[in-house]
Amino acid sequence: MAYAGRPGTLDGMLISARNLVMTYGTGGSATHALAGVDLDLRPGSLAIMGPSGSGKTTLLHCLAGIVRPTSGTVTFRDQQLSAMSDRQRTALRRKDFGFLFQSGQLLAELPASENVALPLMLDGQPVKTAIASAREWLGRLGLAGMENRRPGELSGGQAQRVAIARALITQPSVVFADEPTGALDQATGQQVMQILVQASAHAGAALVVVTHDPGVAAACQRTVVMRDGRDVSAETAPPQPGAQPAPGFPYDQPVPRAQPAQRPNPAPGQVPPQSYPPAPPHPPAQFPAGSTTGSVRS
Ligand code: ADP
Ligand code: MG
Repeated sequence: MAYAGRPGTLDGMLISARNLVMTYGTGGSATHALAGVDLDLRPGSLAIMGPSGSGKTTLLHCLAGIVRPTSGTVTFRDQQLSAMSDRQRTALRRKDFGFLFQSGQLLAELPASENVALPLMLDGQPVKTAIASAREWLGRLGLAGMENRRPGELSGGQAQRVAIARALITQPSVVFADEPTGALDQATGQQVMQILVQASAHAGAALVVVTHDPGVAAACQRTVVMRDGRDVSAETAPPQPGAQPAPGFPYDQPVPRAQPAQRPNPAPGQVPPQSYPPAPPHPPAQFPAGSTTGSVRS
């Protein structure tokens, strides 16, 4: 049973992190990657920004249960991750979370359709239905006709769209993306980011994107700014009332607007000057008309 679109708790909370501390090493050589971070994740899109080494990836990995923090708690839908066994956390990641990385995460030997189908096959679905779902997802993401291409036969942007399809095919509650446009040129990065935001919203998945690109962050509804292992958003970005969806967001959004407790991104037109130039046309994400879930299991 997928959780697409289902709120985590009564107030819509999906993930709640409290006083996260992550220290690598000990004594004088210790690195304080996280120095006490609180974060609440509700449906919608969140960018985690900050300079290299500020703790973004560590924070993402703690939220996703990939690593255990030195101290502090991460709660996903009333389940405390640190109280779970490695096996339970692995099962949770597989069922409820999708992942997208900078590049190189597709299996070079497999065609696009099998790369996308892999999570369903790992979940025990028959190959035939898994591949059929994968082909639907590839079509939705503008890759119809490319199902049999191997990653080496795809452009960087196409490969990231395959990776997006793979991240969403299990209908996760949360998609975690670490620098997903970091290996792409700016125009392609913007297209991929728009597709990622739209497709996640249609699939009913919250999205957490680590980036140091303000243009990528501008496509998200909310931004957290990290520096030296701390959330310094309050010092760097005064709250702006009336956050709006990113420009060029063409679909009805099944994702609720940011909650009052969240810090919205500036409205379009108030984004930092380094943001992307106007969007070039991109292949439409081919969601069925009227669909609000993007479900492939109908
Ligand atoms: P970012 O993603 O913002 O670049 P990271 O979360 O990767 O930052 O790293 C934060 C800090 O923690 C950096 O100083 C980094 O060198 C350190 N760090 C990250 N992972 C490890 C590790 N496995 N062992 C030791 N230090 C690490
Ligand atoms: Mg990083």
